[in-house]
Amino acid sequence: MKKKQLEMLLERVEGFSSPSAEMEQYPTPAPLAAALLHLAYMRGELEQVVDLGCGTGVLAIGAALLGARAAGVEVDPRALAVARRNASRLKVHVDFIRADVGTLALKRVGTVVMNPPFGAQKASPGDRAFLRKAVQIADVIYSIHNAGSEEFIRKYIAPCTVEEVYRSQIPIKRCFSFHSREVREIEVELYRISCHKGNQSRGT
Ligand code: SAH
Repeated sequence: MKKKQLEMLLERVEGFSSPSAEMEQYPTPAPLAAALLHLAYMRGELEQVVDLGCGTGVLAIGAALLGARAAGVEVDPRALAVARRNASRLKVHVDFIRADVGTLALKRVGTVVMNPPFGAQKASPGDRAFLRKAVQIADVIYSIHNAGSEEFIRKYIAPCTVEEVYRSQIPIKRCFSFHSREVREIEVELYRISCHKGNQSRGT
């Protein structure tokens, strides 16, 4: 499937009906989701995929559309209900699991994809718990963070390594106010992180 075709399908994925500000529920826009997944697909890294904090499912569903065995983990049951509806609308199977990423025990998996909460809100666990879990379970991680996170991420994930970084934007509604139509773009970065065993000996 071409990237553009995937993007058009992912445009049909419904977002959060009443997004929670504390949970930092910003859906990944279809073009960025398609770009992330296509990158992984072209590298043969989209066979077995877990989407951490899957929200309404765009990354997990996109992975399944590209032939992956996909699972999505999400703590918010309302988001999961939308995700299930999205998967059936797009006629793919995804295993959706309701759980907290920080405490769920997961088996090793080839690839983690994620757009975790960035930690801008006090109540949010931020991306640390997500990065910790991803590093524990994955060979390769495709993850979206706010721009300027590279130094923190490099240190936090060691001995895993940042292999590639791409810039993009995510439009978010200011303050999640239903009365405001104001939308602003936040600058984000997409990271490809490798946790292959060989990394452990790198630099020695
Ligand atoms: N991955 C989705 C959603 C991104 S928003 C997308 O790309 O569109 C981040 C998601 O992480 C939200 O749905 C939020 O509910 C979820 N989340 C926040 N903390 C979590 C936790 N501790 N465990 C699981 N999911 C969590």
